[in-house]
Amino acid sequence: MSDEQVMFTLNPDEEVKNWYNIAADLPTAPPPPLHPGTKEPIGPEDLAPLFPMDLILQEVSQERYVPIPEPILEVYRTYRPSPLYRARRWEKKLGTPARIYFKYEGVSPVGSHKLNTAIAQAYYNSINGVKKITTETGAGQWGTALSYACSLFDIECEVWQVGVSYDGKPQRRTLIEVFGATLHRSPSRLTESGRAFPEGHPGSLGIAISEAVEVAAQDPKANYSLGSVLNHVLLHQTIIGEETLIQLAKAGEGAPDVVVGCVGGGSNFGGLSFPFIRENLTKGAKTRLVAVEPTSCPTLTRGEYRYDFGDTAGLTPLLVMYTLGHDFVPSPIHAGGLRYHAMAPLVSHVVHEGLMEAVALHQSECFEAAVEFALNQGIVPAPESAHAVAQGRREALEAKEKGEERVIVIGLSGHGLLELGAYEKFLSGNLEDDPLSEEDLAKSMAGVPEI
Ligand SMILES: *Cc1c(COP(=O)(O)O)cnc(C)c1O
Repeated sequence: MSDEQVMFTLNPDEEVKNWYNIAADLPTAPPPPLHPGTKEPIGPEDLAPLFPMDLILQEVSQERYVPIPEPILEVYRTYRPSPLYRARRWEKKLGTPARIYFKYEGVSPVGSHKLNTAIAQAYYNSINGVKKITTETGAGQWGTALSYACSLFDIECEVWQVGVSYDGKPQRRTLIEVFGATLHRSPSRLTESGRAFPEGHPGSLGIAISEAVEVAAQDPKANYSLGSVLNHVLLHQTIIGEETLIQLAKAGEGAPDVVVGCVGGGSNFGGLSFPFIRENLTKGAKTRLVAVEPTSCPTLTRGEYRYDFGDTAGLTPLLVMYTLGHDFVPSPIHAGGLRYHAMAPLVSHVVHEGLMEAVALHQSECFEAAVEFALNQGIVPAPESAHAVAQGRREALEAKEKGEERVIVIGLSGHGLLELGAYEKFLSGNLEDDPLSEEDLAKSMAGVPEI
């Protein structure tokens, strides 16, 4: 390694060939999912109307490593390994003794980490004879990833996009359609779940999920697909952390001091952080893991850890997770896609067990840090990733204050080139902070079922 090296990749013989399943190493098991009707623990057959059996088995697997099938590796090879960069210019700009690395998932064809699971989900559905997949999308990243993945495996794709982003992001809509999916504004008139809301309602991920689930459940040839939250989704994303571990070693680093990432449903940061948690649990490493969320949707820092539904209509299993309540409708002014009412059960569990920390940041700080990052590193972070960048900067400045040589790894989950509207608002001074009020929190928590 030269002293000036800034980009770390992998040789073909270092390719990551297994996903990592943190369930195998957890000190305590997360509580079981419950059937939304009977409130009894669900079995694999309860999920069969929505998911192919391969994914259901991954959802409950206790195997430490799951081999990545060759047809998935073939597609991964078109954009993986994603680069790990050392942010030398930004370090200088900050005047920090910290060494800052970022793992960049924006190099995927769709510009984010979401393709890592979209490919896997489309593949497993295709080998199980599924002809159509329905899904929701918030900011549009997941809809883009799944529509591209479905096109690769000859599956029809139907997407319900949260109303506010559908209205505000016509280019994102076009991209989803370029990749061949059929797109609906949610709440739509096509489903019972959608018709429960007035036309023009801003929508939410919870509502869009209800719509996509409803359609898949009624069509024997269709399945449903979720872009985050579930165990199998986080499993597929662990390729991010496994690559990062090897790349850091090639950069001459041992266990980093801290790994930071943004959390919406928890998939990109679960994927980055879980292999590091394994190193903490099994090899005595002492890496801090810090999940970053927006103050407008502070699931981990202000939500409660308890059973709740994954969607608004209560069609999904009940999962134990940090939740703001499934009726929660996030403020439409917020720019990022980190607006889900709950958090992946596995991420919730490791936070609850003290294996991961969580912080909430105002979006103004995030965009300010993201613009500084862009000026020094040439990459415009996705608004979600901007939260990780801002926390990375906090860590770097704290290291400077304390005169510490801290090694910081930032999960840069995607680029923001299709989210320039948010940057435009920020640059013109029109981006407001909108932290969740106590009153709104109490209102949405009141709808959480007592189990
Ligand atoms: C969807 C998305 C997120 C948030 O989802 P997670 O499941 O928490 O990863 C973060 N960053 C980008 C770029 C996204 O597209």
